[in-house]
Amino acid sequence: MKPFILSVEKRHITFAIVIMLATGLLTGDWLISIAVSLLGYIIWLYYRIFQFYHWIANGSLQHKVPEGGGIWEKIHHQVLQDKHKSNHRKKRMNALLKRSQRILKGFPYAAITLNQNNELDWSNDKAKVLLNIIKGDRGQCINNLVRSPKLYQLLNAGEHDSEIEIESPKDLSIQLLLKLIIIDTNSKLLIARDITKRNKTLEMRKSFISNASHELRTPLTVISGYLEMVKADEHLAASLSSPINIAYEQTERMQSIIEDLLTLSRLESTDDIQNISVDLNMAKIINHVCQAFSQAVIVEINTDKTIVGVETEIISLCTNLIQNAIFYTPVETKIIVRWYADGEHKLCLDVEDFGKGIADKHLPHLTERFYRIDKGRSKEQGGTGLGLAIVSHIAQRHNAQLNIKSKIGSGSTFKVCFAQ
Ligand code: ADP
Repeated sequence: MKPFILSVEKRHITFAIVIMLATGLLTGDWLISIAVSLLGYIIWLYYRIFQFYHWIANGSLQHKVPEGGGIWEKIHHQVLQDKHKSNHRKKRMNALLKRSQRILKGFPYAAITLNQNNELDWSNDKAKVLLNIIKGDRGQCINNLVRSPKLYQLLNAGEHDSEIEIESPKDLSIQLLLKLIIIDTNSKLLIARDITKRNKTLEMRKSFISNASHELRTPLTVISGYLEMVKADEHLAASLSSPINIAYEQTERMQSIIEDLLTLSRLESTDDIQNISVDLNMAKIINHVCQAFSQAVIVEINTDKTIVGVETEIISLCTNLIQNAIFYTPVETKIIVRWYADGEHKLCLDVEDFGKGIADKHLPHLTERFYRIDKGRSKEQGGTGLGLAIVSHIAQRHNAQLNIKSKIGSGSTFKVCFAQ
């Protein structure tokens, strides 16, 4: 550092020494000559600093670089270089920002950005159509622009990727799916999508399945009744016995599918179960369900805590899980049903089997309707492929989480956790 300063400031230091020598020789007082030359050098430095400040304060323009060689030349050069780099960076960032805004502008969804106080920063054109938000609303709190308790909760929770469904403040017949994306601690992106058509299609699908199941139920009961009668007839020709038995079994299967479809439709038709919920003694329900099966099941009750729910639905949830454990594991294999309070203020039901287990790739699909890993075995056992879809629906209605863990060769655990 020292040699660098000496080399760049050589001219000014030499000049100061010459002044000092000249005044020393002229006055003969070397102390005064040193003081004078040092003072001169300091004044000159102050002048340069002032010039530098003035230049920086006025935008450090290239054509207005103050004069002055030595270290000052280096400082000016460095400042200009940094300024150039920062301008370049700013241009790039601006171009990037404009590009992302152009992309969001042409987006088929409404997009708005909010600051840390949930005040509007920016919105695209579609935000006007779906959320009634215009550019002039900038700076206003989103909760004053879109009045919805659900949105208020979504923003307060501040969970990345969380979604809610609300009605559009512009037109209540428009249903919107709002998704929150956390960009960083100071900004959030809110995306709103019109899902009115999607919801209508879902509704139509649900009501079609419900109506079709209802319509098929009665004729199927009649066919099944006649087949049962023919089956029991002593004079039935031997050649017809087998086809009649098969036909009867198939009608029974169809009846099970229709009953499960109707159960699903019922579960889907109402979300609010508050006024049909009661206090349920889970230990009693589990013991009662297990007794209905011929295969022995180990029951471990570790808590006498109760839950609030719909009794028929909780019985159906337990029955489906225990029945599956029995169906899909070899006879005599251990099956454990546990009811316990876990550390996170939850009450959990575990149905654990030690069967052949389920491969990871199937786990996310098990609760889809008619998803079966082994179609042959499911049908052989009289499975409808709807059991876990029903379990998942019941869990959802009771604000419970269904968790499936399984390992090939070791078995599976189906866990349903209810809030305490
Ligand atoms: P199903 O009526 O076919 O049993 P479910 O919805 O109850 O329909 O189950 C879906 C599929 O998940 C079943 O077909 C089966 O392949 C698999 N499954 C469910 N429970 C278990 C289990 N305990 N062990 C192994 N596989 C299981």
